[in-house]
Amino acid sequence: MKDFDKKDLMELRWDPTLREWVLVSDARRRRPWQPKNFCPFCPGAPETGYGWDVLILENRYPMLREDAPEPHPHYFYRKRRAVGKCYVVIETPEHDLDDISDLPKEHIAKIIRLIIDKIREESTKKYAKYFLWFRNKGSEIGVSLTHPHSQIYVLPIVPSRVMREIMSARAYWRENKRCLFCDLIEVEKNDKIRILTENERWISFMPFYSHWPFEAHIYPKRHIGLLTELDDEEIDLFAEILRKTLCGFKKLFASKSTPYIMVLHQSPLKKAFEYYHLHIEIYGLLREENKLKYAAGMEIGGGNFTYDYDPEENAERLRESIKRC
Ligand SMILES: [Zn+2]
Ligand SMILES: [Zn+2]
Ligand SMILES: [Zn+2]
Repeated sequence: MKDFDKKDLMELRWDPTLREWVLVSDARRRRPWQPKNFCPFCPGAPETGYGWDVLILENRYPMLREDAPEPHPHYFYRKRRAVGKCYVVIETPEHDLDDISDLPKEHIAKIIRLIIDKIREESTKKYAKYFLWFRNKGSEIGVSLTHPHSQIYVLPIVPSRVMREIMSARAYWRENKRCLFCDLIEVEKNDKIRILTENERWISFMPFYSHWPFEAHIYPKRHIGLLTELDDEEIDLFAEILRKTLCGFKKLFASKSTPYIMVLHQSPLKKAFEYYHLHIEIYGLLREENKLKYAAGMEIGGGNFTYDYDPEENAERLRESIKRC
């Protein structure tokens, strides 16, 4: 870990108009120049060594750190210490692998088990409120390091989108005495047309309210809040359905692999939210072959997505693509 430079700016700033935190850090600007063909995630690099097939390392240019400085108070605005952890999950030693859906499901299960171990370890830390695992795939969204990897942010706050879901689920629970997400699963099973693929313990579907042209949400059929609650069979079948769904995105367009963002939405670490139900969300970022869907004026400026297709038709295209896997 590099010594903390007192001049680095690293803090959380509160937006009182939208009521959400912004993570501020200028540490990434200081990323040193690296030779063009050097990959820090390949076996034998200074931080990786040899003899591994999945590896979790601390991110060298994090947004959060365990020893983050106490921010200087402002007379009006709220700030918080950016205390937390950022990790990189190096999912395979194979540099040229296109996507994790190219890995056997047993290998994906290994990745998931390692992440579960990390959740257990981080849950004991005082600062750890939330464990966000996410994966950005494709140069289109600025992924500069092509070696297959995902990221973990252990946060002192609950991310805004998850917070909104928790609030909705709480209101639904109070009104109906049922889990909102368990009910969504029932509706999708009943409607069938948006189901992408399914196994004994998991279901993957394109949401009725999809924001992105191709989107997949993957839920365990059992009502659970945290990844650490999965049993062995659920982990294996999670690996299977994740591989299939991602492979569907990969094969959607003939000439190129679909860039996507994948994120794990689970419960906050310490407080039990009995009305929350974990799931994975995958947003495919292409509208058509070589046409990116941009979040722009309406989406970013207005906050509502525009959907230019028929969601049920796109669900069928994605489902057919999964069948080719
Ligand atoms: Zn590499
Ligand atoms: Zn549920
Ligand atoms: Zn969600």
